[in-house]
Amino acid sequence: MHWSHAPVYWRAMSETPRSILQRVFGYHSFRGEQEAIIDTLLQGDDALVLMPTGGGKSLCYQIPALLRAGTAIVISPLISLMQDQVDALHELGVAAAVLNSSRSQSEQAATEQALLDGELDLLYMAPERLTRPRTLALLHRSPIALFAIDEAHCVSQWGHDFRSDYLELERLAGEFPQVPRVALTATAEPQTRAEIARRLHLDQARHFISSFDRPNIRYRITRKDKTRQQLLALLRREHPGDAGIVYCLSRNKVEATAAWLQQQGLDALPYHAGLPAEQRRQTQQRFLYEDGIIIVATIAFGMGIDKPDVRFVAHLDLPKSIEGYYQETGRAGRDGEPATAWLAYGLEDVIKLRQMLEGSGGSEEHKRRERLRLDAMLGLCELTACRRQALLQYFGEHDAPERCDNCDACLHPAPTRDATEDVRKALSCVYRTGQRFGVNHVIDVLRGGDTTKIRQFNHQNLSTWGIGRHLSTRAWRSIFRQLVARGLLRVDPEGFGALHLTEACRPVLRGEENIRLREDVTEKVSGRPRREASTLAEADQPLWQALRGLRKRLAERDGVPPYAIFNDHTLREMVASRPLHEPDLLRITGVGETKLARFGSDFLELIREFEYPDVESTS
Ligand code: ADP
Ligand code: ZN
Repeated sequence: MHWSHAPVYWRAMSETPRSILQRVFGYHSFRGEQEAIIDTLLQGDDALVLMPTGGGKSLCYQIPALLRAGTAIVISPLISLMQDQVDALHELGVAAAVLNSSRSQSEQAATEQALLDGELDLLYMAPERLTRPRTLALLHRSPIALFAIDEAHCVSQWGHDFRSDYLELERLAGEFPQVPRVALTATAEPQTRAEIARRLHLDQARHFISSFDRPNIRYRITRKDKTRQQLLALLRREHPGDAGIVYCLSRNKVEATAAWLQQQGLDALPYHAGLPAEQRRQTQQRFLYEDGIIIVATIAFGMGIDKPDVRFVAHLDLPKSIEGYYQETGRAGRDGEPATAWLAYGLEDVIKLRQMLEGSGGSEEHKRRERLRLDAMLGLCELTACRRQALLQYFGEHDAPERCDNCDACLHPAPTRDATEDVRKALSCVYRTGQRFGVNHVIDVLRGGDTTKIRQFNHQNLSTWGIGRHLSTRAWRSIFRQLVARGLLRVDPEGFGALHLTEACRPVLRGEENIRLREDVTEKVSGRPRREASTLAEADQPLWQALRGLRKRLAERDGVPPYAIFNDHTLREMVASRPLHEPDLLRITGVGETKLARFGSDFLELIREFEYPDVESTS
């Protein structure tokens, strides 16, 4: 087995967290609170860690696992994720293993023996496995360095990811009082944090709370206008050859969109819960192991996929809440490299979601909460100020700067105008037509149309007929969208999308309040994510592609995803500094001693060929 001959030379007494960071992981400095968390565990104390996705939670227990005597037990909810982590650790030369029932009896027995013998640095397992009497007995006979409880929000009964097996983990405190425990999560809410501490008996734990900002993600929200073409432009111009996820609300739309992207020559695959399990498994596998696959999916896709180099997440339908939006967009750019979160939404989305919500079963209290969530999401969409600041504020971070310079609102501020006059016209037209019609008809009346419906109801005789000819249908739709989003108009769930005035209209109709609306401008796709692959100088492209090719071959040889060899950031540093000798290569982020030994000569040779293309032919 892999780990049995993993090098163990770094466990000399003189090792420190920093030297391990450098030698094993090839990184030069700790991020955020990593070092303080590691020190806490090394001192034998407990910790509760909140860090955003991609913040670098794993190192917080992996480094103590290498420094403390015994094996670190890592508890994680998803078997597929555990295997990915273990594979990545093997590439670093770390002795890690998984204990789960999908393995053969003899493999499991060998892993257990290795644990008893103290040969493992890390052992991953699911909570239900851990709390079996047999496993607990085994752990009592083995040297244990620490317990790391990943995705710790799974203990929260209020969260979406509740797992009853996680509740059983409370036993660890009593059964292993001497062993330090660390609980980690990317879920921000303070209630969840309190619940984790309570349920896992982490009363003495130090709390480490990081900002939830994802500075490398560029947030962009745009109005729908031939959505498929907009998406295609984004993929072709800004993300050629990149891996990403496109989210749609319905299964039909997932399949249609994937098929259309394939016709455009893109590597797009559909994913939703209605597809056969085997097809879903293969799709996930290709996404992880091949470069540049695009997954078109319902939100069923993403949970349990820990691919660090997802370069974009695109939403073709409006998410129901900011929580959902942030979780889904958070799957982009875990590796810290530039990534795009792009959302296109339109009037129909707003109407559809409002109708779904009002028409859903569920208590009034539930509906009220969902309404607030949707309103917050719409507010984010219609915002003219920095999106990031609004997102962070929503999650309780009130000290974010006013501008981030990495969202569409900061980069291309939308012009606003005083639209009070037009808003009054729109509202009175809804009123005059009896609050019984949907937006299309109301706009027809405003623009002085001559449709069957208008004649049927004699709406050409209304005082509001034709008072809105100065604006295009599209401009009116933009106004109505913003009015619904701001709650001046309500969509009747039963009446086929009929618009109703709300209390909030009164001051506007009475002339007591002015309304500023944003002008919808066509999105500028100019702002490219910073430092992305396609912004490499033209001259660097061949080397970049060659390095990716080499990485792919090595990944196939080892049966691991390409990023487990070296991630994009590491390859990009190689392109920039073109190392020719081992010491130069070691200076690159992500190159530690094991990877140097394993892959160094292949990469150096390739770079030398690029730097001195003639050497071979002349010698
Ligand atoms: P999380 O579990 O918090 O989502 P990970 O532990 O998977 O995040 O880390 C995200 C990425 O950041 C990984 O590719 C990891 O190797 C990298 N990383 C973590 N810490 C550092 C560091 N100190 N320097 C450079 N890269 C780091
Ligand atoms: Zn901003």
